[in-house]
Order: sequence, then C-alpha cells, then structure tokens
Amino acid sequence: MNQNTHLKTDVCIVGAGPGGALLSFLLNRQGISTILIERQPHLLKSFRGEVLNQDGEDLLKKHGLYSLVAKRGVLPLEQIQYWENGQIIHTITPDEQQSHVGIHVPQDHLLEVIVSQSRTLENEHILFNTVMTGLLHNKANKTVGINIRQEGRPASIEAAVIVGADGRYSAVRRQAGLTPDIRKHGYDLLWARIPAPAGWEPAVRMASMDGQQLALFSQFGGYVQIGWNIPQGAFTKLREQPFAPFVQKLVAAFPCLADSVAEHIRTWSDFVLLSVESSFAESWAQDNVVLIGDAAHTMTPTGAFGLNAALEDADVLSELLIAMSVDQFKSTEQLQKLQAVRGEKVKQQLARQLEMESSFQQRYESFQ
Ligand SMILES: Cc1cc2nc3c(=O)[nH]c(=O)nc-3n(C[C@H](O)[C@H](O)[C@H](O)COP(=O)(O)OP(=O)(O)OC[C@H]3O[C@@H](n4cnc5c(N)ncnc54)[C@H](O)[C@@H]3O)c2cc1C
Repeated sequence: MNQNTHLKTDVCIVGAGPGGALLSFLLNRQGISTILIERQPHLLKSFRGEVLNQDGEDLLKKHGLYSLVAKRGVLPLEQIQYWENGQIIHTITPDEQQSHVGIHVPQDHLLEVIVSQSRTLENEHILFNTVMTGLLHNKANKTVGINIRQEGRPASIEAAVIVGADGRYSAVRRQAGLTPDIRKHGYDLLWARIPAPAGWEPAVRMASMDGQQLALFSQFGGYVQIGWNIPQGAFTKLREQPFAPFVQKLVAAFPCLADSVAEHIRTWSDFVLLSVESSFAESWAQDNVVLIGDAAHTMTPTGAFGLNAALEDADVLSELLIAMSVDQFKSTEQLQKLQAVRGEKVKQQLARQLEMESSFQQRYESFQ
C-alpha cells in the first residue's frame, strides 16, 4: 500500500478475532463487501478463550463450519471433575442429549477455518499487520471510515459502517465515545499451559485452593491449561514469596501433574498473569459505528461465555445487515437493533458469571 492508499468497502471490520472473522465470512457469503483488518501478522494466537459451549457449537453447525473445524482438530470434554487432595470427590457428566460438557477448540483452528472459507468468496479482503489509528471524518464531521497503519504506512478505509470487533481494549469503542461500565471481580488469574499426563481423559478439573478456584482444562494436542484464581492485585506480593511452596499446592491437588509441572513451571515467569474484569458498553452503536464481542461486553473466563457470545453477536449483526440496504448501514437506529436483540442474554450471562464466582467455594464444599 502507498502512502495515500484509500480503500473503499461496505463494511469495515476492525479485529480478526472470532467475532470479526465470522461476521466478515457471513457478510461475504451474501455478496456484501468487507475489509477485515487485524493488527497481528497472523491468526496464531495463544492464551485465548477456547472452550466452545452449546450455543457456539450450534452456531458453527448452522453455518456449516463445525465439521471443518472438527477436522482441523478439537477436543470434546467428557466431564467436570471436582478434586480434593489428589482424589475426585464429585463428577458432573453431560446431559442425556449431549456427549460432552464443552469442546476445546484451538483458536487458530477456528480462525483459520473461518478465514479460509471467506477466501473462497469474492468479497473477502483481510489485511494483516494493519492497525486502526482513528476514525475518518468528512468535512461535515461525519464518520466515513477509519485511518489505518499497515506495516507502518498510513492509509484509510472508507466504509458505510465500521464494526469494532477489536476486543476488550477496543480502540473503536474509545474513538466512538462509547464508554464501557467496567467491573472488577475480586480476582486475577494465573494462566499456564503444560503437557497433560499420559492417559488423562479429556475433562475440566476443579479444585479449591485457599478458597479460590483452580481449574484445569484438557486441550487438543495433549495439553492442559491451568487457570489459577488469586486475589485481585496479589501477584506482586506473591512473586516476593518462594516459588516452590506455591507450585507444590498445585501438585498436591493434582499429583499426576508432578512431572509435567517440574519440567514446565519452574519460576513465577512460567505463569501469565491476566487481570480479570468484565464490562458492558451502555450503548453498542453510535452514528455508523457498532461494537460486537468483547468490545461491547467483556466477560471473565468463568463459564466459557465470551468467545461464544462474540460468535452470536456476529451472527445476529450479519442477519441485521443482510436485511438492510447499504444506506441503512449508516443509521444508528438500525445498528442499535443488535443490542436490542443480544443485550439481555449478555446481561444474564454476566450475572451468571458473578453468581458462579461467588458460589464456587460453597458449591465445592457441598461435594466434600
Ligand atoms: C483467560 C481467558 C480465558 C477465556 N476462556 C474462554 C473460554 O473458554 N470460552 C469462551 O467462550 N470465552 C473465553 N474467554 C473470553 C474470550 O477469549 C473472548 O470473549 C473472545 O476472544 C472475544 O472475541 P472477540 O472477537 O470479541 O475479540 P478478540 O478475540 O479479543 O479479538 C480482537 C482482535 O482485534 C485485534 N485488534 C485489537 N485492536 C486492534 C486495532 N486497533 N486494529 C486492528 N486490530 C485490532 C486483536 O489483535 C484481536 O485479534 C476467555 C478470556 C480469557 C481472558
């Protein structure tokens, strides 16, 4: 792209996460032109939400994507187990109609399938290494697109509608003046991924550690993802303590992890710290800008709702846009229909997360 490159499209989507990638595919399939921009150079992301729930699975099936993702590699989780001192004290198995309690889908598998399906269509246009730097305004101060930098070079994209699918720290949301109501949840998360012990059945394993949730998620490819809740803001102090007694608690809870932990979690730096918060933007649309997924409503990892909610937003917004004329894309009233359709369910899921987080210890103790 040259210095003054100016691209044009019907729908400009910022962020090729699950929400943005799916929206682009669904619109392209109906002949609507999109430009999807992604600041990363590729789709290979790690440490992202990767458990698909029934809503997400149904949605991928509805659009003929699930079988392709499954072929690329997924891992259905067979049980939720509650553990104490190295023993299972309670097991939750799937409902009669279901064969699993969730599906681990590596995010790069999901994104690669969606993007490769888009690439078979005429209207697909994805730009990697491209970051949105601001909204583009015309002389009458109306938003007519976005300014970008692609590999350091400035350019712009003119579009009838701009979709902020750019995640929890959304620049689109900020630029459009849409403020999120942010809530802290009293805990942060230590996150690590290590090889699973041989023969471990695919499951979610829970333990209580000093009254906080410690969760292990089996992953495709023979891994286990560790999500260890610690009190909010406690990591700086924790890091000053000796590491060995801390990590020993993990091994005491799950003794069969001993070898893998000894080899792969040796210092505090082997954990990634995630600052946990949720948010809900009061309004998801302003002028011809609309937000989906984490940009509109960030969820905590509890209950595996976030990725699935982003896919559902994309599905609903695609249906709304497909039913509109391109002129209507510029109507805030039309774009606000997304929140009218999706807002209540998202609020219920946010409330459910709070309830699950506050009742974890009580639920755990009821199994003892
Ligand atoms: C630790 C953790 C565990 C989780 N576990 C689960 C789970 O098991 N199941 C579940 O359903 N959800 C889970 N979630 C939530 C889930 O990860 C998110 O809800 C989901 O990824 C949101 O998708 P999205 O498409 O809205 O945004 P994102 O996945 O955040 O994608 C946004 C994209 O926008 C790009 N971007 C950002 N800014 C710009 C810019 N200015 N210009 C260009 N590109 C930009 C980013 O690079 C990114 O690719 C978890 C979250 C966390 C933190």
